[in-house]
Amino acid sequence: MCVDNFFTGSKKNVAHLLSNPDFELMRHDVTFPLYVEVDRIFNLACPASPVHYQFDPVQTTKTSVHGAINMLGLAKRIKARIFQASTSEVYGDPEIHPQPESYWGKVNPVGPRSCYDEGKRCAETLFFDYFRQHKLDIKVVRIFNTYGPRMHPNDGRVVSNFIVQAIKGEDITIYGDGSQTRSFCYVDDLIDGFVRMMNTPDGVTGPVNLGNPGEFTMLELAERVLRLTASRSKLSFKPLPADDPKQRQPDIRLAGELLGWKPKVDLEEGLKRTIHYFRHVVAN
Ligand code: UDP
Repeated sequence: MCVDNFFTGSKKNVAHLLSNPDFELMRHDVTFPLYVEVDRIFNLACPASPVHYQFDPVQTTKTSVHGAINMLGLAKRIKARIFQASTSEVYGDPEIHPQPESYWGKVNPVGPRSCYDEGKRCAETLFFDYFRQHKLDIKVVRIFNTYGPRMHPNDGRVVSNFIVQAIKGEDITIYGDGSQTRSFCYVDDLIDGFVRMMNTPDGVTGPVNLGNPGEFTMLELAERVLRLTASRSKLSFKPLPADDPKQRQPDIRLAGELLGWKPKVDLEEGLKRTIHYFRHVVAN
């Protein structure tokens, strides 16, 4: 069963699954209680693009916190294993590099990113308290920047922005001087990590980082996208958003040890596949 309020998601993305008798789609917002019978729950709810999660910041915190409370309550009642999609944002603008799971982070509690960062941090707290207090079977991963086909063309995050701009011949919007770094994981690798984590023995709770350690500046990313799309778009420098982390790279040693996981698709290959997808979307 797939549950979505379609704030950022699209039915088109799961249209190919609708004819599968084992697949059910329900329009529902996790900030309201949910009554279903399942064995396993993946809680991925919450917009993840700064543009989207800052559109209605109160709702963003509610989605992470009330959503976690509702999903944990459901898991407790039906004795389901429950997986939480947490985030590298729990590390904020990190002081240590790369970031291991043991790092507690440097998060501004009152900035424009806080609704997402603190919401996800509070959700982690709830998961671990349900684990300790109610013996719930929890699995928590921290996702670093991820991209790939089926992202929304107006998602607002950097990979889709640059690709769509390059394909349309529009200016590539670099925020700040473009020296900030991110590590980009291709979606298929991430999902492989999810499945491995969900299948770990009881008591393996995480949190476990999932991300691709290849680290790139936004200028490097723009150059690659321009080359791979053969675009003549120009770079256009815009102000850096408040609290934008300067660098980010996952330490994925724990994922290697616990899950035997490491990403297989490098940025070059992942960008090619994503550009192929967006060419089709932008043309139609
Ligand atoms: N960014 C950019 N141009 C864009 C969108 C984002 O230069 O059109 C930068 C943004 O300032 C950040 C990085 O790219 O430093 C990644 O931003 P994104 O919104 O993808 O995710 P974040 O990691 O900040 O949550």
